[in-house]
Formats: sequence, structure tokens, C-alpha cells
Amino acid sequence: MVMTKGTRTLKRSMNFMTKIGFDLDGVLYDWHRVAYEWVVENKEGFNVPYGRFWTEWINNSKHRMLADFLVKAPVFVTTIIMSEPMREMLWGLAKNSELFYITARPKEAHFGTRWWIKTSKIPNPENLFFAQDKLPLIINHEIDYFVEDRTKNALALQNHTKVILVAKPWNELIQEEFPTIQSVLELPELLETI
Ligand SMILES: [Mg+2]
Repeated sequence: MVMTKGTRTLKRSMNFMTKIGFDLDGVLYDWHRVAYEWVVENKEGFNVPYGRFWTEWINNSKHRMLADFLVKAPVFVTTIIMSEPMREMLWGLAKNSELFYITARPKEAHFGTRWWIKTSKIPNPENLFFAQDKLPLIINHEIDYFVEDRTKNALALQNHTKVILVAKPWNELIQEEFPTIQSVLELPELLETI
């Protein structure tokens, strides 16, 4: 079923559990910061600013090997311990919602990701999924809201769930088209208004 504003509001007003899905990197986990800082520390003479690094520099085919290394490095997905405010925010949402965590991380990062989900002590840890294409999961689980930072995913999912965007330099072009928050911590407040 395609969720419209009407059906979402109805679900909430009838006390049905809404279902909220989260991307990890760029949403619940600041992977881009961890990876960028590793490059700053390890690549001699590197001085590309953060926004340009992710919007241009890393997309250059010259840097494909480094990009591949960053994406597959297991250590980057266990570097940040979840903050208390973020954990509290998720538990607050879990009072009325079932939470899902859907990430495209490659197999090299799966073990670390499972460890991180468990260690973070967040609600519904059993709802962690790895998928390059998130759409079948969104449809099968009837996820009402999905919090995402990647332009390609936001556009691909928008007709099947209510996409909420976390503002990042790499999604500036579509921020007008989606309800956009600066940090996932703003999500509960936003959900009151949409
Ligand atoms: Mg992401």
C-alpha cells in the first residue's frame, strides 16, 4: 500500500504502530566524518575541504581505489559510539513506532555493523537489514517514513514511503523537495508537523 499523508495520520490517530526506517551512514552514523578524517591524517599533502571531498573529489575515477577502500574498511563503522541524545531520541520514537535500520554497507562491514547496533542498545535491533536496493524492504515491511541522506535513494523511495532527508553537502539539490532536517535529532519534532 502506498502511504499517503491521510493514511499515516489515520494510523497515528488510531494508535497503530507507525514504522520508521533509518539509513545508517549520514543519518545515524557519521561515517563520512570518520572516513574523511582518516584521509586527512593518512594522505600526505591532502587539503580538500569536507564538502568538496564528498561531492566531487571522491567521485573522480582517479580516486576509485581509495573510495573502495573507505567503503569496505570495517574499522570505520565501529569508531563512533552512539550518543546518549540519539539513543534517547530513538527510544522515544519506539514508544509509538517500530524502527528499522537499512543500510547498503558492503559485506566487509556487516560484522562491525551488527556489533555497533548491539552495542548501541537501540530499539528493534532485530530490524537491521543490508540491501543495495532498499525498496523491496520498504514495500514488504510497509515502512511509513524513511530517513535518508543519499539523493539516489531518496528519489527511488519517494513514491513508496515518506522520505525525510538529513541535509548534507551531497544532497543540496533535492533539499527543497523533501522535508529536511539538519540532524536526525530533529526527527521527533518534524514528525509532529507532517
Ligand atoms: Mg547514507
